Amino acid sequence: MTEAPNESSTERSDAGGHLNFIEQLVEEDIAAGKNGGQVFTRFPPEPNGYLHIGHAKSICLNFGLADKYGGQTNLRFDDTNPVTEDTEYVDSIKNDVRWLGFEWENEFYASDYFEQIYGFAEKLIQKGLAYVDDSTSEEIAAQKGTPTEPGQPSPYRNRSVDENLDLFRRMRAGEYADGAKVLRAKVDMASPNMQLRDPIIYRIKHAHHHRTGDTWCIYPMYDFAHGQSDAIEHITHSLCTLEFEVHRPLYEWFIERLGIFPSRQIEFARLNLTYTVMSKRKLKQLVEEGHVNGWDDPRMPTIAGIRRRGYTPASLREFADRIGIARRENLIDLGLMEFCIREELNKTTHSVMAVLDEQPIKLVITNYEEGREELLNIENNPEEETITYRRVPFSREVYIERDDFMENPPKKFFRLFPGGMVRLKGAYIIKCDDLVRNDAGEITELHCSYIPESRSGSDTSGINVKGTIHWVSVPHAVEAEVRLYDRLFSVENPAADDPDGQLRSFKDLLNPNSLEIVRAFVEPALVEAARSGEQTNFQFMRKGYFVLDPDSTTNRPVFNRTVTLKDGWAKEQNRKS
Ligand code: ATP
Ligand code: MG
Repeated sequence: MTEAPNESSTERSDAGGHLNFIEQLVEEDIAAGKNGGQVFTRFPPEPNGYLHIGHAKSICLNFGLADKYGGQTNLRFDDTNPVTEDTEYVDSIKNDVRWLGFEWENEFYASDYFEQIYGFAEKLIQKGLAYVDDSTSEEIAAQKGTPTEPGQPSPYRNRSVDENLDLFRRMRAGEYADGAKVLRAKVDMASPNMQLRDPIIYRIKHAHHHRTGDTWCIYPMYDFAHGQSDAIEHITHSLCTLEFEVHRPLYEWFIERLGIFPSRQIEFARLNLTYTVMSKRKLKQLVEEGHVNGWDDPRMPTIAGIRRRGYTPASLREFADRIGIARRENLIDLGLMEFCIREELNKTTHSVMAVLDEQPIKLVITNYEEGREELLNIENNPEEETITYRRVPFSREVYIERDDFMENPPKKFFRLFPGGMVRLKGAYIIKCDDLVRNDAGEITELHCSYIPESRSGSDTSGINVKGTIHWVSVPHAVEAEVRLYDRLFSVENPAADDPDGQLRSFKDLLNPNSLEIVRAFVEPALVEAARSGEQTNFQFMRKGYFVLDPDSTTNRPVFNRTVTLKDGWAKEQNRKS
């Protein structure tokens, strides 16, 4: 058992019945009989990139809440910005939500509501609550004032309803260029809340949309699309991240003025994780500039990357549950996510042998008959309820890792050295008799002898050795490529001390050693199991947890390191400081 790193002091709804603050609010609403006691939520991604682990938290929260209270969750693509969206992203998002283990009630697109949203805008105009503004974006920004000074009304603020309707219809008809006019809600230019100072709700954009094509050249802004979509779908609880807290009065202003379904917006803290960034914009840069090998690079915090890294859906749901729901921004230790997957893989994976070394050492067991082969039974996982075994071929020649041998060992070195003895895991005790060197003086082979009575499981030799090392039989070994992944960034919080990228690019903080590729020799059986899909995650004995990568070819399997066996990073940091 490993010990959980510091859990954050956030609120976790646990089996003990403790509710997080969102559940408390929802239960109050149910008790008050709001919406007939129903709980409808939605997960509303903008299809402008791949989902990341922050989205996974939001998915678990939205689907989890509806599930807990017998409700439903919609998947809604918030596709009101025509320029950045793409069907590739739509497909990846659906795939990721399903993979996490959730099924949505309806698949909706905010763009399907364009006509209705347009109708809401005309309704506001008719009520004298929206106007067409010809000011430039600079002029509008200047009119807004500052948080301490009230704004100034636009010279177009008092246009008549008829004029506004006419202009707005002509905006829709495509009579004006991008940026020539906008539609603004007429709220309050003196409000202390800047969001209420006559926000823009429609803009002109002559752009092709991935679903509506060229039907529209005006598009609603987020604030006039999100809440309206919530209302159309009768979403009872609209959960979003904290930056939208200041938008809530506007969200409610529209509900009241339009007389639409009263969805309740509730904000929670976004997930931030150490040693990574969590913004699609930044992740996209890493992909486009080739700092990583695509959205599903196993170093990426995207769900696709994390999946390829070898994480399971259950481990991510467990992680989301452990971090809980907070009302304040915080930074979660990546170690907690690693803890969750390690806990699971420790119970579920087979522990197999892989020699990870560009130049392994070959042991020749001189007293083991040439041509002889044995199939040894080796336990798959001591944590299993009913222990199972697999057959591992053993022969006269085996590979071991170079690190498991030392010519001049220090005291307490319990692995192999000249004249020393170790147990080959699941096999025999051997003794190192002789070294063989090449012309450059490097050791290439060790000549050893084995103790026939020392076979694991039926050892009658009476010899005690301190060290056990793993090995792979040379004639049976399958050569593989192993990708050792580490943190993507070399600092804890790459987004923190320079959030706007004024001083340097966040990309300067990338960990130059986040990927090391090594050659390995692995047991043949595990390659079979991986290829057939019978098992894809493994524990490589003494090395960590690994998963088969889709880059594998018939001749050369590729494995990704999911996580090390123990939290080696913390130790390494202590050693350096
Ligand atoms: P990004 O800045 O990474 O693009 P976003 O908020 O713009 O994120 P959306 O696709 O608009 O991404 O988000 C879909 C849903 O996921 C929203 O409800 C959003 O609040 C939530 N979400 C996004 N990032 C996080 C995060 N880091 N933690 C928790 N929830 C998040
Ligand atoms: Mg967004």
